[in-house]
Amino acid sequence: MFASRLLLTLCLSLGTTFAPAADYHFSDAHIHYVDFFQESEGMERLFEAMDASNIDHAMISGIAVAKKWHEDEPKRPRYYAGDDAGAYWFSATDVFVAEAVRALPEDRQRRLHPFLTGFNPTDKNADAHIRRMLELHPGFWQGIGEIFTRHDDLTAITYGDTPRANNEALTRVYHLAAEYDLPVMLHSNITSKRERNPLYLHELEEPLRNHPHVRFIWAHAGTSMEIHRHQEKLDFLLPTVERLLDAYPNLYIDLSWTLRTPYLLDAKGRPAPEWVKLVNKHPTRFMLGSDVVGRFGSLGETIRGFVPFLDALEPDTARKVARDNFLAILPDPARAKR
Ligand SMILES: [Zn+2]
Repeated sequence: MFASRLLLTLCLSLGTTFAPAADYHFSDAHIHYVDFFQESEGMERLFEAMDASNIDHAMISGIAVAKKWHEDEPKRPRYYAGDDAGAYWFSATDVFVAEAVRALPEDRQRRLHPFLTGFNPTDKNADAHIRRMLELHPGFWQGIGEIFTRHDDLTAITYGDTPRANNEALTRVYHLAAEYDLPVMLHSNITSKRERNPLYLHELEEPLRNHPHVRFIWAHAGTSMEIHRHQEKLDFLLPTVERLLDAYPNLYIDLSWTLRTPYLLDAKGRPAPEWVKLVNKHPTRFMLGSDVVGRFGSLGETIRGFVPFLDALEPDTARKVARDNFLAILPDPARAKR
């Protein structure tokens, strides 16, 4: 009481009309528990970050590849792009996630939504591997992904074939996802670093059309840091996302990483009216994500960074985007508990 009277007095004395920001609760639809070396700060740090910023729920996945420390490289790399060494598909990532989640007390387990990611998306045996993993811990995994397909430099250094979202192996995975009612998160870049057109879009669009019963989450709507180093902003992104949302009711957009700036917010942090309009038009189809990898210090700041954009939305839509839309696409049994 005293504090609020003090605040009121302060506002009055400053001559401002003080409208406090909405008190959002969040779901983070895109967290990697480990980094490209399969290392993690651990669950305590993750929950510290979630609790400090009202992040009630989070998707949690591993990283499907491990970066090699090659003997030709002068020092141990710190990121996958740190040197010329390759990366290889790494299934144990799911074991790290499963063990870490299963060791948590029940109330914390309920807040995490594990997605299975450790398989080679060019191998037509991938669906058989995923099925064995799903059966190993029945009901544990609540989604599949983030599946790395077109991923600029990462694609180039990953050993073996480059995955496409529309290849034969993933077609089999989508059938499995439909069978288990699991959402699928796809990292499928909309283009290459240099092409100023949606070069790879058809690879995403084909499964959207062919698998209407699978809920697809398109990670950061096909944008990436590398693309933006070469092309400041993709002019065709907004009309493309708009067309896809109208055409495919099974498509959901993860607003993480390179989508927040420069698309949702401009360089000065002002919300982009055309994106506000699009999200208001499709209030159930967008969700927030941090896309942190193994370290959680920046988690709260990243998620709270969306608040200026949320504040520009209709209040009901803002609440859905901030928290509820992610929970609504989880499989039935998981959704029922929220
Ligand atoms: Zn990611």
